[in-house]
Amino acid sequence: MSLLRFKMVDAAINHTAVEVKAPKNRPSEYFGEQVFGHDQMRRYLSKADYRALMETMEHGRPLTRELADGIAAGMKQWALEHGADHYTHWFQPLTGGTAEKHDSFAEPDGRGGVLEEFSGKLLVQQEPDASSFPSGGIRNTFEARGYSAWDPTSPAFIVDTTLCIPTIFIAYTGEALDYKTPLLRSLEAVDQAATAVCHYFDKSIERVFTYLGWEQEYFLVDEGLWALRPDLMLTGRTLIGHESAKNQQLEDHYFGAIPARVMAFMRELEYESLKLGIPVKTRHNEVAPNQFELAPVFERANQANDHNQLLMTLMEKIARRHHFRVLLHEKPFKGINGSGKHNNWSLGTDTGVNLFSPGKGASENLQFVTFLINAISAVHRNNGLLKAAVMSATNAHRLGAGEAPPAIISTFLGEQLTAVLDKLEKSHGDSAIRFDAKNIFRMSGIAPIPSLLRDNTDRNRTSPFAFTGNRFEFRAVGASDNCAEAMIILNTAMAYELRRFKEAVDEKIEAGMKKEKAIYEELRRMIRESKPIRFDGNGYSEAWREEAARRGLDCESSTPLVFDRYLDPLTLEIFSEMGVLSPVELEARTEVKWETYTKKVQIEGRVLGDIAMNHILPIASKYEAMLLDKVYKMQQIGGLDAGPDIDLIKRIQHHASAIQEGVSELIEARKEANRIENVRLKAIAYHDNVASLFDEIRRHVDKLEEIVDDQMWPLPKYRELLFLR
Ligand code: ADP
Ligand code: MG
Repeated sequence: MSLLRFKMVDAAINHTAVEVKAPKNRPSEYFGEQVFGHDQMRRYLSKADYRALMETMEHGRPLTRELADGIAAGMKQWALEHGADHYTHWFQPLTGGTAEKHDSFAEPDGRGGVLEEFSGKLLVQQEPDASSFPSGGIRNTFEARGYSAWDPTSPAFIVDTTLCIPTIFIAYTGEALDYKTPLLRSLEAVDQAATAVCHYFDKSIERVFTYLGWEQEYFLVDEGLWALRPDLMLTGRTLIGHESAKNQQLEDHYFGAIPARVMAFMRELEYESLKLGIPVKTRHNEVAPNQFELAPVFERANQANDHNQLLMTLMEKIARRHHFRVLLHEKPFKGINGSGKHNNWSLGTDTGVNLFSPGKGASENLQFVTFLINAISAVHRNNGLLKAAVMSATNAHRLGAGEAPPAIISTFLGEQLTAVLDKLEKSHGDSAIRFDAKNIFRMSGIAPIPSLLRDNTDRNRTSPFAFTGNRFEFRAVGASDNCAEAMIILNTAMAYELRRFKEAVDEKIEAGMKKEKAIYEELRRMIRESKPIRFDGNGYSEAWREEAARRGLDCESSTPLVFDRYLDPLTLEIFSEMGVLSPVELEARTEVKWETYTKKVQIEGRVLGDIAMNHILPIASKYEAMLLDKVYKMQQIGGLDAGPDIDLIKRIQHHASAIQEGVSELIEARKEANRIENVRLKAIAYHDNVASLFDEIRRHVDKLEEIVDDQMWPLPKYRELLFLR
């Protein structure tokens, strides 16, 4: 076994960069060539079909059967010309990741031959077996059948030789079984609510879009070394491992030169992404050794999210060609930073205005302040729920781990905006009317905001939800998450907030108040009430935890209990009213979350027990036997001091028996938890009684790693996993 470790280390050192399969021509020449985008649609569809499809995409016009047939024919022709021989509905079930079932275009023609077939019916709807996907309570109460249905707002694309058609995935009875369905509903909800509020300022605005720019962090490890670590292979993180003497303390990795082997991987990933229309833009080393980041230019949220899902699949595939494995786990290594996926979120109008960007005139600035305050207020009202949206068995190791976002949601606004809101809050009575946006900034002695906001924001890296000049950056999202979950919650919360805001303002206007004054009055109230969510200090500090509790923010950190927020009466009300998720859907999805949590901890427990008993203890025993042999021989000769060796033997004995005890206890705790029927209580038991035992077992294993002969140690060590590339 140890021989294998040395072989793999040797191989890792000798891997050179794989030749990059990227062409010499420019991105503008191949960007989107595997996508059935606007250009392709124009070329492959009839004029009438193209126009009708645009109506469907932009205004949600229902699709007729004839139109579906026309589009399917064009899509098929394009796909066949571009090397596709299969098609699939591509969807995002609650397992995380994406699902696909490929069907060939080839159909028997009834005369002994085959024809390439693809009808509108196949494009629009299919019926994959829903019973094999998580559905929470829905599976028990309803039929197992499910439908996947085409999402015409997201273009089809070709991966390898398969035409992939983005679809939603719903139960026979209409409940969402995926991420895309509620995401689309939430985009609709925020569009309606935001457009209505925009009309206070500009009647010409017809639609408001949600934009998402994600930043994907990830680790790369050598594939051979990875294969020797059952924990990495089966759980995505190291369950044992002594920290390397050097890790990130020198901070010499961040923005450092990218190693050649990694660069080859990145270039190929970027090439494949660009061909699929993913507008990747930025790449760099992250803080931790072997940690990297990739970010595209932001897009409309639905498309951006599809692109992130697609990218995660691509990464894994391409990494293997370069003899790497990608780790998307939020905390693969103890003692060094984990990986997140910052979600940059903004709202923009069809007239091209970013609603989170300060404008030029007074009216635009009032509009900006209105949307800013509504967002802050929505985050305040739903801070526990937002945490639930990003909480998971894996991300729990990162949230609140003294690095990136704590397990308490707060928002950072920066000095200038804080001053603006403070001034606005303190103004009262009629003065509000004179207190237009321009004056706010003049009164605080500050020149036009746009330039200054950029310099002033984004300094606070400890904030989970920071305003960064023209968008909010939700940093608590996990690297392996589907961004949709965070976007669903944010958009729904925002839509609800905007609707309440509009109702309150309209009421005042009806009672005879001037529009501007009504808006200011309402904003002032919201500023006051949402104040507890604003925090510009150090989010990692212990003092903040206490302060946050005093402010009434959600400080729960137990993952299964954090999920309770999905079923709060307020959550049920908001989601029902906005038409995003019904109580049945919320219950089902929360059940899936508890189940997934339990399963992940269960697997980790098994793997930890297996590594400890089958990999570590036998080696420790072997080493101990060698020492015993030595001591015995020393005593035979006489006159030699066997004391230090006997000490070592005792220490091995101590740790080995502690590990054995720990593993037995772990097995017992699992058995007990498994007897619990209720999914929530079971998850709580797994959290409180099972996961809580891991650290102690690990501590003893890591101690043995320090003692036992390095040549015998079977598993690649941190220094090998993290510094060989
Ligand atoms: P940083 O690492 O400093 O946060 P990056 O440049 O890595 O910045 O990432 C910023 C991300 O924010 C990119 O994905 C970018 O496209 C996105 N972004 C920029 N402006 C907006 C906006 N108005 N709405 C949404 N996302 C945006
Ligand atoms: Mg960022």
